[in-house]
Amino acid sequence: MLPRPKKRLGQHFLTDRNYLGRIIGAIAPAAGDAMVEIGPGPGALTERLAAVVRPLHVVEIDRELAVALRERFADGSVVVHEGDALDFDFASLPAGLRVVGNLPYNVSTPLLFHVAKSAARVRDCVFMLQKEVVDRMVAAPDTADYGRLSVMLQYRFAMSACLRVPPGAFTPPPKVDSAVVRMEPLGAGRPVAGDERLFERVVLAAFTQRRKTLRNAARALVPPEAFARAGIDPGRRGETLSVAEFVALSDAAGR
Ligand code: SAM
Repeated sequence: MLPRPKKRLGQHFLTDRNYLGRIIGAIAPAAGDAMVEIGPGPGALTERLAAVVRPLHVVEIDRELAVALRERFADGSVVVHEGDALDFDFASLPAGLRVVGNLPYNVSTPLLFHVAKSAARVRDCVFMLQKEVVDRMVAAPDTADYGRLSVMLQYRFAMSACLRVPPGAFTPPPKVDSAVVRMEPLGAGRPVAGDERLFERVVLAAFTQRRKTLRNAARALVPPEAFARAGIDPGRRGETLSVAEFVALSDAAGR
């Protein structure tokens, strides 16, 4: 029997066996993988993953669920970390880590930023999220969905949406569609900002006033001559810049 879902913890449990199988197919767990699942809940994905990956690490904030998982996987096949995934140190697990999960939607954006900090140690992430968030993660420049989340994640990861999941696949059904996204860290050749803090601030400024030209939106951070150095027209809006152009602009501003 399913535990009573707690709304404040974003608990929508995956109960459709067809979609469960398709999500496992997208993750494609293999023996020898180092893997952590965020928010295992009652363990529908956990059971399928732990049949292949040993040990499987899981991070669950709900004490009741964490206790039940420890009892159910008392053979040690699953290591249960009870706590907030936002505080979890992914670097404490082996490098080449695969991070997966049906994420709690109420904290999905901060969780993505938290996992991104450990990108260097991660092999890939496969997450289920609100479809609207996945649309923003994978969006291309000059589209309505392209924003700070797109730039900050595409700075570190190649991303692809792989599966759409309807509300009826969950108990209780959420109000919105969900989607599965795969994130793979970019290789060593990716553009890296000289000053990542400044890069983050330029991106934030560009999208806080996204209808304004960069000349105006980023005035406090980017001096006029930096646009020429970066080869970027200051009359453009930030939403038209690629990740590489944001890196070039913040590097030129930092000189
Ligand atoms: N994986 C299960 C499934 O697919 O049925 C449950 C998914 S449910 C959408 C999200 C899970 O994340 C819940 O079990 C919830 O208790 C847990 N959770 C919520 N916030 C969390 C946090 N900050 N850190 C870790 N787990 C969290």
